[in-house]
Amino acid sequence: MEYISTRGSAPALDFEGATLAGLATDGGLYLPREWPRLSEAEIRELRGLSYAALAVQIMRPFVAGSLTDDELEALCEAVYGDFGHAAVTPLVQLNETHWLLELFHGPTLAFKDVALQMLGHLFETFLERREKRLTIVGATSGDTGSAAINAVAGRDRVEIFMLHPNGRVSEVQRRQMTTVRAPNVHNLAIDGSFDDAQRHVKTMFADQSVRETLNLGAVNSINWARLMAQVVYYFYSALQLGAPDRKVAYSVPTGNFGDVFAGYVAAQMGLPIERLIVATNVNDILHRALTNGDYSTGETTATITPSMDIQVSSNFERLLFDVGGRDGAAMAAQMRGFDVNKAMQLTNAQREGAAALFTSARADQTETARALQWAYRNADQVIDPHTGVGLHAALNADGIASGTPIVTLGTAHPAKFREAVERAVGVRPSLPSRVGDLFGREEAMVELGGEYESTRDFVLANAVASAD
Ligand SMILES: *Cc1c(COP(=O)(O)O)cnc(C)c1O
Repeated sequence: MEYISTRGSAPALDFEGATLAGLATDGGLYLPREWPRLSEAEIRELRGLSYAALAVQIMRPFVAGSLTDDELEALCEAVYGDFGHAAVTPLVQLNETHWLLELFHGPTLAFKDVALQMLGHLFETFLERREKRLTIVGATSGDTGSAAINAVAGRDRVEIFMLHPNGRVSEVQRRQMTTVRAPNVHNLAIDGSFDDAQRHVKTMFADQSVRETLNLGAVNSINWARLMAQVVYYFYSALQLGAPDRKVAYSVPTGNFGDVFAGYVAAQMGLPIERLIVATNVNDILHRALTNGDYSTGETTATITPSMDIQVSSNFERLLFDVGGRDGAAMAAQMRGFDVNKAMQLTNAQREGAAALFTSARADQTETARALQWAYRNADQVIDPHTGVGLHAALNADGIASGTPIVTLGTAHPAKFREAVERAVGVRPSLPSRVGDLFGREEAMVELGGEYESTRDFVLANAVASAD
């Protein structure tokens, strides 16, 4: 499979190249040149497969040319044989209509493990093949950091420098990063906000003095391989609910538009999806864009759903490119305008293309808390606030044919955000035993100031340079 950039001027790459590159050199994001299609009969054939076996079938066309069937099978076994639940992503029924897809049974208790565990293995496979090393530099508001660190800790050819805003992630989130002791893991606490940490990372990717010595890699959801891995659980859940003979709707707590875009990919592959509901918190740029075409950023408001406190949703560009006719030059011009104005208007083709599958809803903190209470009282489920934003949107969805199951994606384990959960439902969820003695282990992190230069100097002094 060949991958092309949404901005039209970077070279096309194979799956291996796109995985290692992350972002395209023209600033765009990689997408497959065409969507692989499964017929109804082929989808029916997938019923009853284990998660790992289904993952092989769904990912095969995307990795063709870069991984053999044997390699792909071994990878899927290694990654999904090791989750905290035999079903990997179990489906829980809430009432006749509503279901919860639990995506938080990985090592760091958020859905990001499902894809990042796969990405860690892919990096190792491809870097060994190329006899190269990769230096991952990333910024996190909490969940990505721990999932990425966990996915690469102890691996030979990868090292990771993860920046987080000092004092602004929860204690569980911080400990999930800082108690991982491996020589290739570096936790950097930066003075400032998540946006400041993110700015350091972006500056570093553009910094010649760094690029000359280090082979930089990205782990955020601009990396295509992450989205590909997430397509699997849409198929897995829909098959259980009667696909391809019955349509299923999904409500997806959304920040960077990665998770819900994977649902769009599943639909392009032929999975009969009735609706994708984009659920946002009060940082609602996507809700506004999908409602009236206005994609304009505002100030980020801190909420009880910090992993969705985002004003620019990188992966939205992938949708706009695909439904807008796949015109790279036009996309590049549109994004240049957005960079200057921090705002843009969707074209009619983009609005109509998106409206064919997506709707959206927004939940404030009161509505989120009410959704947590609904789940607790009506279905005896303690859910996390991010999941609550999704459930609020699912419970209030209209225009969905009756009899259609609505699946809310459960993106985090409630214990990860237990203060907010306890405030809403009066129950303090406990951490599952697989995370071990998180509060007894020693932490390691380096505290740096707010200056980009101190971050850069630390990375250059501590990275194992890759002789390119
Ligand atoms: C990352 C994250 C999200 C948002 O997912 P996107 O792919 O960025 O839209 C939602 N919930 C939780 C718990 C997360 O960690």
